[in-house]
Amino acid sequence: LPAMAAGGEQVLQKLNDHGYDAFFVGGCVRDELMHRTVTDMDITTSATPEQVIALFPDSIPTGLQHGTVTVRSNGHHYEVTTFRTESGYEDFRRPTEVHFVDRVEDDLKRRDFTMNAIARNVNGDLLDPFSGQEDIKQGTVKCVGTPEERFEEDALRIMRGVRFASVFNFGLESDTWSGMILQRDKLAYIAMERVRTEMDKMMAGPFPSKGVQLLMDSRILEYVKSPVRLASLDRNLTGYLDKLPQQAIYRYELLLLLLEMGSSDAGTLLREWTFSGESRDRITNMLAFHEHIMSLFEKLALHMERLEKTELFHLLRTDWIPLVLRFGREAAQDWIQINREIAVEEDIFSPAYRNLCPLLLLKAEDWTAEMNVYHVKDLALGGADLMRVTGRKGGPWLGLTMKRLLHIVALGQIPNDHDSLLDLAKKVIEDEV
Ligand code: ATP
Ligand code: MG
Repeated sequence: LPAMAAGGEQVLQKLNDHGYDAFFVGGCVRDELMHRTVTDMDITTSATPEQVIALFPDSIPTGLQHGTVTVRSNGHHYEVTTFRTESGYEDFRRPTEVHFVDRVEDDLKRRDFTMNAIARNVNGDLLDPFSGQEDIKQGTVKCVGTPEERFEEDALRIMRGVRFASVFNFGLESDTWSGMILQRDKLAYIAMERVRTEMDKMMAGPFPSKGVQLLMDSRILEYVKSPVRLASLDRNLTGYLDKLPQQAIYRYELLLLLLEMGSSDAGTLLREWTFSGESRDRITNMLAFHEHIMSLFEKLALHMERLEKTELFHLLRTDWIPLVLRFGREAAQDWIQINREIAVEEDIFSPAYRNLCPLLLLKAEDWTAEMNVYHVKDLALGGADLMRVTGRKGGPWLGLTMKRLLHIVALGQIPNDHDSLLDLAKKVIEDEV
């Protein structure tokens, strides 16, 4: 985004014109060097927050105690932070005290990894005291300073390091790796929300398998507040994570499937991991859907020998459609999306799965699309109509009847029109009386 770079350069220039040092720093410089899209640009300066505010009157004091002011320029926002060092890390978390310093080199020293500790001035000159450029070239995540100390100061850096290695497909420098393992128990002090944010970025990247394998090898997730054991995971299968669409949700769904975690255990875990209610529902519905499909496969596998293909498809469809109604179309679509990738794998789940999943996948999408109703409200007959015509008051019978109608219409046994539904409803009610 040239407009963003230009706006940032204007900020640097104005600070320089008033006698302050100022640089782009951190993720934006790293991403420029890696030819990655830059989404936001952080600036570091010798000016104090008050001095920055004086120069940019419409700036917003977003984090004054940490020395951060948000400045607007050329239609973009920039976080401008005064050169600082940090101290007083309590409980292996963020520092409690910051000290403003005069030299940018001292500011760069507090940063986590060499690739994140490069500054660039308005002329494009780079300041790279820890050879971050070389580490980027080599594809290495390496701590600034002594890893053991840096991870003890702030254990979130362990998760950040794994995340960067995963997203960029980088290796971990050996002392950085052993420092992570040495200090992994400090992750118990980090809020799950912050751990999850790193996991989200990792899972949304191009190489989630890389991160998951690092997490398996380091056993890091066994030490966070809400621990997860990945030991049972087959690492040969982690590669399928990378093949799914690049959205964290699909990767989480597959990870939990591979861990063979039930929907209710997953619900508890996802709550502890501070997932939103929406994501939790989406994931647990998909897992519940999968559990039902797996038992369907087991059931059908017993009869597979003597069933014609058409009969087999008929039975699959007869169970598929009610499951779509119960757990929702999204769960069905997610299930299809994920199982398309993994059903080719020979040694996954069970023999019944291996035999039947490819068959189901031939049809499942069409069956789902052909259902013209997914919800009671899609029916061409309302509950109110039903009460009026039957002269009965509302009650449990009403919901049950509507649900039965929905199933029958979804299976395509009668059309979704008012008169057909009314006839059918009368029969359903008579049967039950
Ligand atoms: P992203 O692409 O996710 O934004 P980033 O490196 O820009 O990655 P930010 O959280 O935006 O990460 O932080 C900006 C910069 O601040 C980092 O590049 C790094 O220099 C420094 N930084 C962030 N978090 C830490 C930390 N926990 N310890 C030390 N330095 C950190
Ligand atoms: Mg950033």
